[in-house]
Amino acid sequence: MALAVSAPKYFSDTPDFEYLCPHCGVGFLVPDQDTFKSIEPAYSLNAHSHEAWDPDWITYRFTVTCVCTKKDCGELAFVSGTGSVDQRYGDDGHPEYYDHFSIKSFFPAPRLCHIPTDTPAKIEECLQKSFSLYWVDTAAAANALRASLEALLDEVKIPNQKKNAKGETVYITLHSRLESWAASDKDHAELCFALKEVGNIGSHGESVKPKHYFGSLEIYSHVLKELFENNAKKMKELAQSIRDEIKAKKP
Ligand SMILES: [Zn+2]
Repeated sequence: MALAVSAPKYFSDTPDFEYLCPHCGVGFLVPDQDTFKSIEPAYSLNAHSHEAWDPDWITYRFTVTCVCTKKDCGELAFVSGTGSVDQRYGDDGHPEYYDHFSIKSFFPAPRLCHIPTDTPAKIEECLQKSFSLYWVDTAAAANALRASLEALLDEVKIPNQKKNAKGETVYITLHSRLESWAASDKDHAELCFALKEVGNIGSHGESVKPKHYFGSLEIYSHVLKELFENNAKKMKELAQSIRDEIKAKKP
């Protein structure tokens, strides 16, 4: 199965992305084109007079305001970043210059995966932090995702400390905590080992591939849904209440 890759940090010409609103979780943040402003700083403009100047010397700074599509939400988000000029083949087959932009900050950051309503606050807080960091550095985002997983293990009462042979209190590694969890919930714990691997790369300062980050988010979102949305349990309760009511009405 191909890994999910979404939320590109790049766009060409004009902003054309849309991301899930962090406020309502239903609407999408879409750019208000009237607010898109791309400016060339003085040092870039001054360089035009250089005899060797070429359009690919150009540097832009941009900002754009995004608005949630859900009318009664109307959340506003501010996006900014950098831009440059690149070459591509136009419709007529000839090379042409075009503007290429890279998002460096997004506030408030869009949701990059579904978070069930009943998810405990600490788990959600770390996830939101991960979504904000994604625009700055995917490795830092993966590290925050790992912190969310530690919070999830706290929630399911897997200890994070133990006494060593000398009687000192020491922290238990995430790997060992997942192994402890596997004893009671093998399916979910095994899925989360993949998140641990991606988080490890992040905490060692290496670069994390977006496809691995988004794959981890997809897995984590699935685990959160099973643990905190619990549709199966709700459906059982609903079925039982219907049967009970019908039974009660029978003479
Ligand atoms: Zn919204």
